[in-house]
This record gives sequence, C-alpha cells and structure tokens, in this order.
Amino acid sequence: MNLIHDFKDIPNMVRVSADKGTAIVCENETNYIRKEDELLNEMDVERSQKTEKQLIQRAHKRLIDAFNKMKMKWQEYRKFTVTAPELPKLYIPIKTHKANFPGRPVLSQINDPTYNICKELTRILLPIAMKGRSFIKDSYSLRQKLKQLDVDDHLIQISYDIRQLYPSIPVQETLNITHLELINDKTLKERTKWKPKQIINLLEICIEETHFYDFQGNIWTQTDGLAIGKSISGALTDIYMNWYEEEYIFNPTRNSFIPFCWERQKDDVYCLWQFGEENHKKFLIYLNGNEKRIQWTQETEEKGTLPFLDMKITKNDHKIQIGIYRKEAHTLKYSSYDSYRPRNEQIGILKNMLHRAYNLCDPGPEREEEIKTLNFAFVNQNYPPKQVLKTIQEYQESDGNKEENKRAEERTESIVVPYIKGVSEKLRRDLGKEDINVVFKRGQTLHSIIFNGKFKKKDGRKKDLIYKIPCRDCTLCYIGETAQWYDEREKQHKRCIRNQDENNALFRHIRTTGHEIAWDKVEFIAFETRTQCRKMKESFYIDMYAAKNGVMNTKRHMLEHDYPYSK
Ligand SMILES: [Zn+2]
Repeated sequence: MNLIHDFKDIPNMVRVSADKGTAIVCENETNYIRKEDELLNEMDVERSQKTEKQLIQRAHKRLIDAFNKMKMKWQEYRKFTVTAPELPKLYIPIKTHKANFPGRPVLSQINDPTYNICKELTRILLPIAMKGRSFIKDSYSLRQKLKQLDVDDHLIQISYDIRQLYPSIPVQETLNITHLELINDKTLKERTKWKPKQIINLLEICIEETHFYDFQGNIWTQTDGLAIGKSISGALTDIYMNWYEEEYIFNPTRNSFIPFCWERQKDDVYCLWQFGEENHKKFLIYLNGNEKRIQWTQETEEKGTLPFLDMKITKNDHKIQIGIYRKEAHTLKYSSYDSYRPRNEQIGILKNMLHRAYNLCDPGPEREEEIKTLNFAFVNQNYPPKQVLKTIQEYQESDGNKEENKRAEERTESIVVPYIKGVSEKLRRDLGKEDINVVFKRGQTLHSIIFNGKFKKKDGRKKDLIYKIPCRDCTLCYIGETAQWYDEREKQHKRCIRNQDENNALFRHIRTTGHEIAWDKVEFIAFETRTQCRKMKESFYIDMYAAKNGVMNTKRHMLEHDYPYSK
C-alpha cells in the first residue's frame, strides 16, 4: 500500500483509465489539459458566464414549469427530478491503442438535474429508436442476421464509422423527426400519457441544459449536437440515423448503390458491398456530401476478413464465419486470481468469456482457438490450471449452466453485503437455498484510489450524510439525515423555525426552553449514499446520543422524513 501512496503523491500527474481494458494511464498534467482543449475545440461548446448553482436552478425551474403546464402534481413528477444535483465533470480516457494517445470525452451524468427525466424519455423513445431496418442491438444480433445470408465471393466487407457521433447529430432536425415519429406512433399511449409536443418540450430542456466542468474547473455549455453521456442521446441518435438511412442509403431515387447488407450499431456500420472496388470510393464521397455534420470513414476487409465491434468476420464459401477480435493493445488481463474478490466472482469472469466464445464464435477452429486463448490468459493470471480446465469442461457439458443461471434469475429477493473472504461465500450459499440473492458490495479498488482525472470541487458542499446540530445552552443535540446538500437542509430547518413549525424538533426545543441553536457547531457524523442504510445509521446515532447527553429528536420526529420538501 505504501507504493500506492507514493505514487498518488507525484505532483502534476493525471491518472485516468485507458479507453479499452483495465489499465490506468498516467499523463503529464500539461499534456492532459492540452488534449482536453483540443477536444473542446472540436465540440460545439461555449464557456458559461453563470455559476453551477444558477445553471442547476434554471434547469430545475424549467423542468418544474413544464411539469406544471402538463398539470402534473409534485407526487407525480418528484421521481423525475434529482436530489442534490451537480454538474457532471469531463474526463478523458486515453486511447492507448492509437498513435499520439488521443482522448475521448466522457461525462457521467448521474447527478445531472436532468438525469431522471432523461431515463424516462429514453424509455418512451426506445421502441421508435429500435425499429430502424439497419438496427442491431449487439454483436450477437448481428451474428444472427449474417448467419442467414448467402454471401457470394465477389462481395466486399466494409465497415463504416461516423466521426464524433453524438456531438455531430443536428439537434433541431432530430427533434422534428422525433416529433413526427411520436405523432405516428400508435403504441405511444401504452407507454405514456404524455403528448408528443410535451415530450419534445422535455427533450428540448434536457438537450439545452447540458453543462459540465472541465479538468481546471471551468464550466462549459454544449450549444449543438446531442449531449455526451445523457441516455436520451443514444435513442435520439438512432431515430435520426434511421431517417438518414431511409433518405440517403435505402432510397433508390437518391442512391444508385444500395448495399447488399447494411447493419448499424450506433456509429458502426457493417456492410457487404456488391458494386466492386472502384464504386465504394465513390460511395464514400457521396455519403460525406449529404449532411455536413455527418462524416464517415471506412475500412475494407483484408484477405476476406474484417474486424467489426468485438468480432473477426470472415467470408468463407458463401457463408460468414465469426471469431473473437482483440485489438493489438489488448493485454489479455481479465482479473488476477490473487486479487481480493469472491472466488465464484473470479470464476464468473471466466464463465462470461466462455459464454461469449460459445455464442459468438462458430464451432470448429474459431471457437477452439478462442478457448485456447482464454485458457492461456487465465492461467497466466494465476488461476489454478486445474480449476480453469474444470470450468471449461463443465461449461461445455452443461451448455452454459443454463439451469443455475435460470434459478438465480428467478430469485426475487436480494441483499447487498460487504465482501469478507471466506465468510461471504458461505452466506451466499446458505441464503441461496432460501432463494435470496446475495450481492457483494465492491470495496475500494486500486482504480478508485488513484484515479484523479476529474475536476475536484473545492466548495466543501456535502450531501448523503447524518448530521448533529447542538444547542448552545444545554447538552441536547438534534440528529438528522439527508440526501440533499447539507446547506440546503440547514436552510429548511431555519425556515421551519421562522415559521414556528411545530413539527420541527429544533423549533420545539427553542419554544419550550428559549435556548439558542449553535449553527456554527454543526458536525457531520457519517456519510452514506444508500437511503435505507442512512436512515438506519441515523436511528442508531439518535439512540446513542439519547443515552449520552439527550436529544431533541422525538419518536414523532421520525415522521418528519415523509413530509414533502418543496422549494
Ligand atoms: Zn438547549
């Protein structure tokens, strides 16, 4: 552990994830900031003149106004708002498998004020997004489609790729197309009671209110293109691309080269081309002349083989053959057997890889090759050779442990416990007999300790905590918990006191004793993001302080959590 701490203390070094695989990349801070500047230059963004607080309040207010217009009540729309929202922070995983180690912009939107409404809108849009004729969900579904084709020798395999997908999708056109699709969607009523126009209005707010911090703490607003990291961007992209393909690819009045096969997953297209070498270059020029923002690049097969997604696709005697494709930079490192993880989770990683080998690779040399590779890779990670062999054999015999997986799926109750080597496995087995799933909580990983590629806010705001507010004139204190920013919670308490709210324990203490609250002596006693655990810890602390010096909380106080918080 000392080594890790020394490593953490090296100044001016940024540590982020590699774009693929599990490696951690170290980068000089100046270089990292330069890469970020280059990416920001390519995106439609501008520096915001507003503070985080102003931006969040505006987004929140726009959403609430929209919900009110839709005649929704607080009880209905509260699940679409976010408690203690924060702006996301940009970070840049480094593509170690490419020259000059370029980055890719990533934004985790989980605390963004639009996060929950985006999830709901995505659910509503998904069936429309998936109905495009080129839509493939993943490698497995592409495999299914390709297996049914009779592939003539003269067909050329080509992969197409759109540069910077989400930021390239034009927003206004996409919203117009989506609006029409929603109006024509006969099943929309089964998914939501919202009207097409209301949905578009909410989508507009989600897209327009996209702001984030860069590494140095500047705030940026995205001005065009779909938001990176928001769930609606995936669905909206598919809706736009479905329109694009009907207009420019499958439309014989515009396009004289309609490919034999054209299958797309987001920005990756697999194509079987029947018009020969010369024409596919013309086709690329045609593609890039259609919409200024949508620019394609292509790669053609070599010796009959084309890598696509995680597959190696080969033409062979009128059939398509599929194996697993690994980038050259792939480290073949999945998980070390020495790492502190539950034993069956370690075996589970191998089983997952076997599942992929069996469901993607064709039986025969491709699959045997892949299983040999896995065997080699896992033994190299200190898995006992016998254990690896046994797992492989069991997998082959049981046809993917279908029964065991099915049983686990049928279990409805789950509990989450910390992982303690030797103890937790037994707990899982015992509770498994009672049809209860046991999920192990991930402890600190090396990655979580040393990652520092995101801007760290220094405003000191804290949330998801249990707090203690003492009295200045006696030993009693008040214990509370909140998922909100604490300063917001404190304001609510103060408001209750001003309003002489009898439900507030602090006010009742002031009224009955004439004492003063020591707001400057507030302490945060524990942090906990899981609601139920936080409430449990709160009751524990109430009991503890009640026994020690006494508390202002009463049994009745516990009801207070259920009463609505509104601004
Ligand atoms: Zn007092």
